[in-house]
Amino acid sequence: MNLVALLVNLIIVIPVAIWFYKDARARDYMWYFWVFVPLVLIFSSTATTIVLLLLLLACYMMLRPKGNLFKCPHCNKPVLEELFNCPFCRRNAKRECLNCHEPVPWNADQCPQCKSRSLTKD
Ligand SMILES: [Zn+2]
Ligand SMILES: [Zn+2]
Repeated sequence: MNLVALLVNLIIVIPVAIWFYKDARARDYMWYFWVFVPLVLIFSSTATTIVLLLLLLACYMMLRPKGNLFKCPHCNKPVLEELFNCPFCRRNAKRECLNCHEPVPWNADQCPQCKSRSLTKD
């Protein structure tokens, strides 16, 4: 293990760790774990790091909660569409219909399910 190999590994691993952080946090899915594991890999050889990193990415893509992201109406960060609370600012990223209690998109002025206009305000 020499310093150059460590630096090369860091250059490979850091963009992946940043991507894991953004994507896993937006999906509220153990982001600390997915950032920590790639950082441990930097202590192996460069070839091992690349192979394990690709395996890790493949696992992540299979395991992560599926779905599209939408922008939080409060902090503008991407949030998985099925989440009710924003994982970043912890505020409600959706409204709730007071009639049928379904989650309603923040910008909607009526419930898509029952057409009721009585929605929570925040
Ligand atoms: Zn937010
Ligand atoms: Zn409704």
